[in-house]
Amino acid sequence: MKIICIGRNYVKHIEELQNERPDEPVIFLKPDSAIVLKKFPFVIPEFSNDIHHEVEVLVKINKVGKYIDTKFAYKYYDEIGLGIDFTARDLQAKLKEKGLPWEKAKAFDGSAVVSEFIPKTEFESLDNLNFELTNNGTVVQKGNTQHMLWKIDEIIAYVSQYFTLRIGDIIFTGTPEGVAKVNPDDVLEGFLEGKKLFRIQVK
Ligand code: ZN
Repeated sequence: MKIICIGRNYVKHIEELQNERPDEPVIFLKPDSAIVLKKFPFVIPEFSNDIHHEVEVLVKINKVGKYIDTKFAYKYYDEIGLGIDFTARDLQAKLKEKGLPWEKAKAFDGSAVVSEFIPKTEFESLDNLNFELTNNGTVVQKGNTQHMLWKIDEIIAYVSQYFTLRIGDIIFTGTPEGVAKVNPDDVLEGFLEGKKLFRIQVK
């Protein structure tokens, strides 16, 4: 499986990093080796002094597809989850400056937290999902999918022009504002519509 991530999908997050608002979705990939194994902590890698949390709504693909039309995209997923796109912000800044790919800053081992998944039928509207991340019990990021520049179905249509989607692939749909550095002993918990979907310790 592969992980497809969308960058710059929430305006306030674009502003906090002083990035340009994109005309098209920004896409990058993470390998399956990026996923933090269940019950394992997130270990801060030696190559960074500034790992940021980015909490994001996840979509799990349930069917093979390419060139998917937006109006049929809903047929390609049944489940929604929550995750963290850990980012080595210091390294990413250097790569961005040089116009180089982001992979080292975004796709390293442990850079993807993936929660359990919930059937999408349990939610009234996927375009109005509240989610938040707490760090040691304090809310640090709070988002709602209504603020996404590109909605889930549009993302699937766009991404599938470039990459064949396969069963089990996971899409990270972008982070709202509030990204910040993590430190050893932090405990990060993710909530989707009030339900706790993951808890991860930082080491
Ligand atoms: Zn992200």
